Amino acid sequence: MIVGVPKEIYPGERRVALTPAVVPLLAKAGLEVVIQAGAGESAGYPDAQYQEKGAKLLPDRATVFSQSDIIVQVLAHGANDKNGAEDLPLMRRGQVLIGFLRPLSSAEAVQQIAHAGVTSFSVELMPRTTRAQSMDALSSMASIAGYKAVVVVADTLPRIFPMMTTAAGTITPARVLVIGAGVAGLQAIASAKRLGAVVSAYDVRPAVKEQVQSLGGRFVELPLETGEAQDARGYAKAQDEAFYAKQRELLSNVISESDAVITTAVVPGKRAPILVTEAMVKRMPPGSVILDLAAERGGNAELTRAGETIVRHGVTIIGPINLASGAPYHASQMYARNLTSFLTNLVKDGKVRPPESDEIIRETLLTEGGEVVNARTREILGLPALVTQ
Ligand code: NAD
Repeated sequence: MIVGVPKEIYPGERRVALTPAVVPLLAKAGLEVVIQAGAGESAGYPDAQYQEKGAKLLPDRATVFSQSDIIVQVLAHGANDKNGAEDLPLMRRGQVLIGFLRPLSSAEAVQQIAHAGVTSFSVELMPRTTRAQSMDALSSMASIAGYKAVVVVADTLPRIFPMMTTAAGTITPARVLVIGAGVAGLQAIASAKRLGAVVSAYDVRPAVKEQVQSLGGRFVELPLETGEAQDARGYAKAQDEAFYAKQRELLSNVISESDAVITTAVVPGKRAPILVTEAMVKRMPPGSVILDLAAERGGNAELTRAGETIVRHGVTIIGPINLASGAPYHASQMYARNLTSFLTNLVKDGKVRPPESDEIIRETLLTEGGEVVNARTREILGLPALVTQ
């Protein structure tokens, strides 16, 4: 089978779906790689490296699509809401597509992919099981984003992070608050700690407390009833507005005492909860920085503008989009490993295995035979549930 890697086309995207290092691993599993010329360049992987590892270079995008049984992308149509639709006419019935597809919030694009007859697998739907861990691209990209968030904040803050005792006096360390201590949040805590900040963190899931403390962070305890905060998949459950209002009230003092706040709080398939209001921003020390990793999902700060950096009441509010693309070499390396793990499980003896045979294949399958087959996406689209035998 032939796996094709087109160049990413989302504006500013620098990652690539496969790196040269995984080409021989895929070859061992009977998968030949073809790649669009220049696809890896912006991530730090020149064409020659792919060729050395046995990949075939193709001159243009249309040829990659026409020659491949399986197309792998980082931001495929759906997750690429700018120009991802350009790929639709290049796809063909029965072709397999794997990538970020944003299955729970890009309904129209998902239906277009289904209508093209493409068998698509969404990496966002990866089950959170031990066996699927090596394929978990959401976690890989969240780790990179959490690290990068700290680097951006450290660079923007007019203060330094570490304590310094010098002949010119003692500098107190920066106080960093991380709201939402999932994969990205934990990486942000660890990275801010390494730079010498005093780090506090909060999450609705009480299970996180020990993880925060093991990284040297202080866990902010709020007198909120959070017993029902986590679903069976380990994700936060949506709460009602009264809960969020109470949470804002209780977080207000902690936020006003922080030099930097990094927010990562999201609930799958929902708009991110507003946790930092304009009134709280007004109370922050001048020069403070908020980096809202939930910007693409509506933002955790009331003032966040996705894709922009703004200054309000002396506070810089950064709403990055696609932060993981800012460290494209390692983000691509991790993503390529995730995909390789997924592909070697998906394809056996030159054939794509049927979804009935495997939980990972079944759960990630989004469209097949002209239909959207994922139950949660069908519900969002208002489609009736498919009858399963
Ligand atoms: P996520 O990106 O969906 O959410 C980020 C964090 O925001 C979560 O920790 C969530 O609890 C928190 N949050 C949501 N609403 C909040 C609110 N109102 N206030 C404060 N915090 C709020 O989650 P994630 O980073 O993908 O991970 C969630 C959990 O799943 C983590 O514990 C992670 O370790 C676990 N996980 C398990 C596996 C596996 O078992 N294979 C893989 C990846 C992650």
